[in-house]
Amino acid sequence: MNSPIEVPEKQIVKENKANPQTPASVIDTSKMSAGKAAALDLTESSRDPLDERGSFASNLFIGRYDFDRIFPFPEQSAEDRAAGEGFLAELRAYLEANVDADEIDRTGEIPQKNIDDLFAMGAFAIKIPKQYGGLGLSQVNYGRAAMLFGSWDANLTALVSAHQSIGVPQPLLLFGTDAQKEKYLPRVARHEISAFALTEGNAGSDPANMSLRADPTEDGSAFLLNGEKLWCTNLIKAGVLVVMAKTKPKIVNGKERKQITAFIVDVDSPGLEITYRCHFMGLRALYNGIVKFTNVRVPLENMISKEGAGLKVALTTLNTGRLTIPAACVGLSKRLLEICRKWAAERVQWGVPIGQHSAIAGRIAEMAGNVFAMEAITFLTSALVDRKAGDLRIETAMCKMWATETTWRIADDAMQVRGGRGYETAESLAGRGEEPIAVERFLRDCRINTIFEGSSEIMRLFIAREALDPHLKVGGAIFNTQLPMMTRIKSMFSSGSFYTRWYPKQWMGGNAGNLDHLHADLREYINYGATTSKRLARGLFHAMMRFGPKLDREQLLLSRFVGVATELFAMGATCAFAQAKIKAGEPAAEVLSLAHYFCRSARARIDHHFAGTSRNADQSGYDLTQELLAGKHESLRKGIV
Ligand SMILES: Cc1cc2nc3c(=O)[nH]c(=O)nc-3n(C[C@H](O)[C@H](O)[C@H](O)COP(=O)(O)OP(=O)(O)OC[C@H]3O[C@@H](n4cnc5c(N)ncnc54)[C@H](O)[C@@H]3O)c2cc1C
Repeated sequence: MNSPIEVPEKQIVKENKANPQTPASVIDTSKMSAGKAAALDLTESSRDPLDERGSFASNLFIGRYDFDRIFPFPEQSAEDRAAGEGFLAELRAYLEANVDADEIDRTGEIPQKNIDDLFAMGAFAIKIPKQYGGLGLSQVNYGRAAMLFGSWDANLTALVSAHQSIGVPQPLLLFGTDAQKEKYLPRVARHEISAFALTEGNAGSDPANMSLRADPTEDGSAFLLNGEKLWCTNLIKAGVLVVMAKTKPKIVNGKERKQITAFIVDVDSPGLEITYRCHFMGLRALYNGIVKFTNVRVPLENMISKEGAGLKVALTTLNTGRLTIPAACVGLSKRLLEICRKWAAERVQWGVPIGQHSAIAGRIAEMAGNVFAMEAITFLTSALVDRKAGDLRIETAMCKMWATETTWRIADDAMQVRGGRGYETAESLAGRGEEPIAVERFLRDCRINTIFEGSSEIMRLFIAREALDPHLKVGGAIFNTQLPMMTRIKSMFSSGSFYTRWYPKQWMGGNAGNLDHLHADLREYINYGATTSKRLARGLFHAMMRFGPKLDREQLLLSRFVGVATELFAMGATCAFAQAKIKAGEPAAEVLSLAHYFCRSARARIDHHFAGTSRNADQSGYDLTQELLAGKHESLRKGIV
């Protein structure tokens, strides 16, 4: 049998052609609660099958370590660099001279002049092709711009990022008709802010709960939108929105399947009302709010892609759109590292600079190693996107999850390193004559990153789902009670014969290929990666054997496998990045000390993840929480106000 574990996509295409009656999902939803089954069914039906080439990160889960996919590091070409240089230099100078991030935070408003100037510079149209008035730059150059924004002001970062990573430009570039592109791209490139409206009060991580409706008009020329969207970033300043709406359900295999459809909606449409501006812990100048739709007429030609394809539009948009936040995180983390580097050398306590106390030195080393790795994974993935090098959804999800969580820890560490000054506002520091370093603002602003554009929990589920895909394709049918018995029996025989060949290979040593061009000091990490990916594949397989179709409930266990793979991905990217830097003439000893530190600490985290797969308190923790939710443990509620 030609297995998806060897060639994922080919198998999927073959199976889908051979058996069109097979549900799109290979996951048995029959034993799930109605809400969970509906959520899963909708997500599964909107999911594109994995590209047949897989990717470096996706293949780690099946014991394949394709280092040659990411090595040599896909460096930005001189031509591409030159294309972005002028704009990036102008942006950098502009931010430094004209954007007062503390004032924006204090007032909760971005000066209109800043917005106008950035539009004029093309900062809202970085990836929009030149023919539509954009700069037509690459993903890597867009990432470099996001890094500059992220290092300076989170409110502006959110404004430009929500506009072009998830707002109108990206879905239109991917799915828009020529007419839609011609009508909207020039507008959003040069003068009109856009936004993306998916979330509702009852539909956050679960779009299947959506209630905003789009009903066709009698003559079929338009849809009428009714309902409300919550937390729509940029809304208050936007001219145009991408709105996700529920349309008429479809009957699939005798069952009703929810349909979500994406529309472009002009904010000045009659019946559209902005009812509230939301305010948050950080991002105080976020133009975020609630929008209400009462019989808002949207012409048919404003539908993006086709009816029912809305979630696919959103998921595909985010597959690359998700890279903007990690790039901004690289910028912020570099800034925080620089603040700590200076302060730890300058601040003397107990007779020496605080950076010489090993407790503080440990935090700073951790920051530095992580900044290096974060830049490596983000720009590696961005470069692969530019090269259209396969299906990168796992890499982008890992970048989003890892970079946002790591940046939060870096901000937390930076506050500790700065001590009381870290907790004091920039305004207060300035008021008593000290340098206004806004660590508390950075901390407040970056917390949201692990929540929006796919929370960390949802990213882990998403990565785990993709990781299990090849196995589900080979053996998932056995457990799927929704499939005909004959299909299940056939699957038992074919997967059995497959696994008798695949499984023993996972006990053999890993092979990372030819490492002659990699610095000798780094080879051990790559060889470790090749061997550990097999251990990961075995572990995942054992978990499938143990839990069968209930594995999806074992979120904490799966998150450990996701954690191992993410660290392996980061280690591989870091070594490739380090080699590229050495080749470019950066001092080898300095580059190696960063790579060594990161890889050693990543190995320690991997050990920790593996240890947790066999010894953990997951079940007792779950039971305890259910007791708490049921109102038990009253003593924990006593003695408080
Ligand atoms: C500042 C800000 C800006 C935003 N901008 C936009 C925007 O521009 N457009 C837009 O459409 N939305 C936007 N959002 C919404 C954002 O995307 C959601 O907050 C996010 O999707 C999470 O949804 P929720 O807050 O309802 O949390 P919930 O979905 O209620 O989740 C609560 C917690 O449970 C976890 N959880 C949920 N389901 C599962 C599961 N199956 N397994 C494990 N854990 C789970 C979540 O990870 C989270 O930790 C924004 C939100 C904020 C706060």
